[in-house]
Amino acid sequence: MLEDPDHEWPVADRIRVRIRGSDYQRLREHLVRPEQNCPKEHAAYLVAGTQEYTHRGQRVFEYLIREVHLLDRDEYLDQSTGIVRFDHTTIRSMMRGSETDHRYLDDMALLMCHSHPRSSQPCYSGTDDENEPAHMASLTGRTAGPHGSLIFGQGGLTGRAWLSDVPTIRHEPITAAASPIDELVVIHDRELERIRTTDSRLSPVSNRDDEMRDRQALLHGDGGNNRLRDAHVAVVGAGGLGAPIVQTLAHLGVGAITVVDPDVVEESNRSRIVGARPADAGDPKRTPDEDGVVPAAWAEAIDGCGTPKAEVLGRVVSDIDPSIYYHGIHEEVQAPRALEQVVAADVIVTGTDTATSRRFVSEAAQQYLRPLFNAGTDIDVDDDAGLRSIATSFQVSGANRACLDCLDAINEDRIDAEGEDEDNLEYGLELVAGEQPSVITINQEPVQRLTFALHRFLTGLLADRHGFRTGTYSATSDRLVSDAEAAPDCQFCNGAFTAAGDRGVPIAKTGLYRTTPSTVETGSVAELGLDAVVEKEPAEDKAEPEGADSSKEDSLLARIKSTVARYIPQL
Ligand SMILES: [Zn+2]
Ligand SMILES: [Zn+2]
Repeated sequence: MLEDPDHEWPVADRIRVRIRGSDYQRLREHLVRPEQNCPKEHAAYLVAGTQEYTHRGQRVFEYLIREVHLLDRDEYLDQSTGIVRFDHTTIRSMMRGSETDHRYLDDMALLMCHSHPRSSQPCYSGTDDENEPAHMASLTGRTAGPHGSLIFGQGGLTGRAWLSDVPTIRHEPITAAASPIDELVVIHDRELERIRTTDSRLSPVSNRDDEMRDRQALLHGDGGNNRLRDAHVAVVGAGGLGAPIVQTLAHLGVGAITVVDPDVVEESNRSRIVGARPADAGDPKRTPDEDGVVPAAWAEAIDGCGTPKAEVLGRVVSDIDPSIYYHGIHEEVQAPRALEQVVAADVIVTGTDTATSRRFVSEAAQQYLRPLFNAGTDIDVDDDAGLRSIATSFQVSGANRACLDCLDAINEDRIDAEGEDEDNLEYGLELVAGEQPSVITINQEPVQRLTFALHRFLTGLLADRHGFRTGTYSATSDRLVSDAEAAPDCQFCNGAFTAAGDRGVPIAKTGLYRTTPSTVETGSVAELGLDAVVEKEPAEDKAEPEGADSSKEDSLLARIKSTVARYIPQL
């Protein structure tokens, strides 16, 4: 890829860094050290996956932080003598996994971080501008990139991304070769925080005259309303769970809502889909075409076919607040267009009626470092024995939390049933899974827990008090059972998949990817529609001799370390 002169570097109107709260705390404490009033500059480097998407007409590029590596004091001392040396074993112990895993660094982007401990709103210094292009060019010549840098001050931070080829980085002015990083999105356990950089191109946050929500402002101030308006939430599934969730988000004032659902309204849905009118219900026999997908424009043209659920919710949202940006996608979430928009959101919500799509979204949330709020119901009624059980569940997954499989929120029997007959699968999953009981009052239980938790997460409400009310509620025995823990060896929430972004797709070729093959073509990157994918060798490929491999890895790490160390002009 790097030798390819036609390689296209991403063009971005907006650049973001997305990072877990624990990583951000560790990084900031190491770099700025406010409690010690430390005047020295410190450094670190971040290993990141990347992501590209278009949202509201803007091309967005994101760094998804996978790993944080802090430089020790003795590593700077080497630099001050003009010699860069480092202890290989120290760095290896800092890295996750075995030595052979380090090759993946070649496919990742790197963010060099250092501090300007005396400034509150830091800017790039003359020394930074002088040295950075050469370092970025040498890194860009060796590994995938695009690489970037961040500077932390006492209060704020700034950053830039070098989305250019080596000659441009070396010879053009910085303004032509690098673009400012606009925003850091920090995913804390109980709250989503946005930090604008010194050089951000985003318009400054301002209070809006929002009389509709002034009672809400009395609870969490205009600041809370602003945070809701800045948020983008994607809801997968527009049925009995998704519909009331979307309605609540619209009342609350979430600024951008994406809804994905392949179904059209049937008369039997109208007992629980808010906003669905009698005229929206169509003849259930007239729904699926060959792919099980009816694009909205066609659906209207098919006589007797119901209104797409994603379209009904668009009407619900604009009736409540027409200033909300709404994007309804009438397709399976596995469709490339739908997936790209779902993983573009700040938070993903799942309320789908199939376990297969839930698992797919859970894995995407891990791969794209997105928090996932999941709601479900399970009503077990037997023809002969009558009612066996009623259970409802709400989990927070994705980003820095366990995947839905680890949380025991995926029903393996239903996955098997849904995958049993590939031919049936093409004609809609309900034919396979059978008709499930679904009742509005039972749906409301997890919807209430989920929407209150999401409101808190987006505004920081009660973040210092306690966590969310997650787990499975049994209405049969009136008990709330907490979720299972993450398995330490899970490949999806503790492995190579995490925060890989668009770079994670080739992992599908190793057979790790678990989504039912008939619903998505995992082998074809082009069909998935994801850009900037770097070819990655399967982990089991041992064609290269170990010795040659580790020397390549050492030289790469040496370059990273020396690049970071040289950022520190003096100690
Ligand atoms: Zn500097
Ligand atoms: Zn897991």
